Amino acid sequence: MISRRLVLAFPEKIVTRPITYRLIKDFDLQFNILRAEITADIEGKMLIEISGTKKQIEEGLKYLENEGVSIQDASKDIIVDTEKCISCGVCPSLCITQALEINPVTHRLLFDKNKCILCGLCANSCPVNAIKLKI
Ligand code: SF4
Ligand code: SF4
Repeated sequence: MISRRLVLAFPEKIVTRPITYRLIKDFDLQFNILRAEITADIEGKMLIEISGTKKQIEEGLKYLENEGVSIQDASKDIIVDTEKCISCGVCPSLCITQALEINPVTHRLLFDKNKCILCGLCANSCPVNAIKLKI
């Protein structure tokens, strides 16, 4: 039995279908939904931990991709160094869960870890490497 932490992105046309339910029913996988968000443009994002045999996981993920779900490996933790941040505004514009925002008064970056689904978009885009994801 192995486990993987993944970020799943569901486009609008499939966001209401019970796709993840079939991972349990048809592929005998166990999964925990660690965080889930549906954004204003109705894209769904979910951070899950999935467990099963290597073969079960591979087949389950192939099924998800065939259904139009985007899959990426999730990190285990995130560190946002607000001292290093130059408040450029890039990461808040990319963060689908609005875990990052610039305070309009102080112009300092605010980070709400409870909203973060560890997708990594912010860390990959920061010009001063103020955000780090831990695998
Ligand atoms: S990793 Fe960054 S972009 Fe992704 S949800 Fe967390 S704060 Fe937002
Ligand atoms: S991308 Fe980097 S520098 Fe820009 S606001 Fe985010 S953390 Fe700060």
